[in-house]
Amino acid sequence: MNIEDLKTAYTYKSNKELKFTYFIFKVLQKPGLVKLLISLTNGILKYNLPLKFLIKKTIFNVFCAGETTDDAFSKIKYLEKFNVRSVLDYVSEGENNEDSFNKNSEIIVSNIIRLGKECPGNYVSVKLSGLENPKYLTHCNTINFGDELISSPRFDRLIKRLDLICAKAYESKVIVFIDAEDRCMQDVFDRLTETMMEKYNKEYAVVFNTLQMYLKDRLKYLHDIIESAERKNYIPGIKLVRGAYVEKEREKAIKERKDSPVFDTKKETDDSFNQAVEICLREFKKVDSCIATHNNDSTQHAINCINKYNISNHYSKVRFSQLYGMSDHLTFNLSINGYNSSKYLPYGEVKKAIPYLIRRSEENSSIDGQIIDEVIRLKNEIERRANI
Ligand SMILES: Cc1cc2nc3c(=O)[nH]c(=O)nc-3n(C[C@H](O)[C@H](O)[C@H](O)COP(=O)(O)OP(=O)(O)OC[C@H]3O[C@@H](n4cnc5c(N)ncnc54)[C@H](O)[C@@H]3O)c2cc1C
Repeated sequence: MNIEDLKTAYTYKSNKELKFTYFIFKVLQKPGLVKLLISLTNGILKYNLPLKFLIKKTIFNVFCAGETTDDAFSKIKYLEKFNVRSVLDYVSEGENNEDSFNKNSEIIVSNIIRLGKECPGNYVSVKLSGLENPKYLTHCNTINFGDELISSPRFDRLIKRLDLICAKAYESKVIVFIDAEDRCMQDVFDRLTETMMEKYNKEYAVVFNTLQMYLKDRLKYLHDIIESAERKNYIPGIKLVRGAYVEKEREKAIKERKDSPVFDTKKETDDSFNQAVEICLREFKKVDSCIATHNNDSTQHAINCINKYNISNHYSKVRFSQLYGMSDHLTFNLSINGYNSSKYLPYGEVKKAIPYLIRRSEENSSIDGQIIDEVIRLKNEIERRANI
């Protein structure tokens, strides 16, 4: 399999879209410019300047599927033509009241029902901080997940929102990925997700937990969850990521005078991620997994493990996923070669998607090597098409 076949990678983009994406990535290559643009964007939103259309036409256009559910569904159907699945990700960051938590869960539930009917085989993702206030979730994290927490009416409402989402997903045969966020909320995320997995992951994994492998404690957690799921007779769904909040976690640890929960070097994170891939695929009879990465070596490592452990039914046991707007070479070459591959597809109002877009911009401008590769790929494909 040639991961770098560019004709396949960008076949879904018109010449105009390709050139536009190239332009956006060239901008993202300049950290100084990205910083300036982030401040400008925050200013536009804070003072309600009538320049939202600028954001919508540029970076939003490259990394998001649109503002409405209909926009997102037409993108899902378009990607299906290339045998690429989607993880529908309703983005609504920064709202912190009961009404918005209820509204978010209603939107996710209606997306699940619509996916089940119109686009079976596609998935949804859930951010628990969209179903409860992160401050409250952080507080819950410090309390034992026992009677005290379970009997709290507020916590009970959160469980009910999540349970409704997972029950509908089970009924509609739509897989749900619970995203990982800040470490200070992860213990409570783990317990909630485990409760849902135990209830719904009987024949296959309907609910997936996300493990950020930059965290020093995750390999142990992975071993523990596999062992505990086997005892309790369910199939854990494990989505592996490296983790999106390195700087934030480190700064927080310094402020609180604690050890950083994140590995000190990229190499340690890479080793931990690749070990987790090996464990999940070695245990493929007990675990359903999703390898969520833009890293070529980790993707190749996962393919090697599929061969090494002779996973003949890998399409239903091992999923690959990349973020919309990034690493098309992996998504489209995996899918054309018979692997189960998908795009994480965020959509929602421009204003609510800004924190997500800022994370993407910072990530792109800080990972020099990968962004340079992305720019080279786009340029080569533009030239290849020009020479046909
Ligand atoms: C489909 C999908 C879903 C995702 N869902 C989530 C999610 O739910 N939660 C979440 O947190 N993230 C999520 N991410 C983002 C992910 O965690 C990574 O930030 C992103 O994918 C970049 O990592 P990589 O494996 O693609 O590639 P690489 O470029 O190989 O790795 C970059 C990553 O390595 C780590 N790293 C970099 N420098 C250092 C250092 N000095 N020390 C230690 N570690 C370092 C960081 O995690 C950084 O993001 C998701 C990504 C994808 C593709």
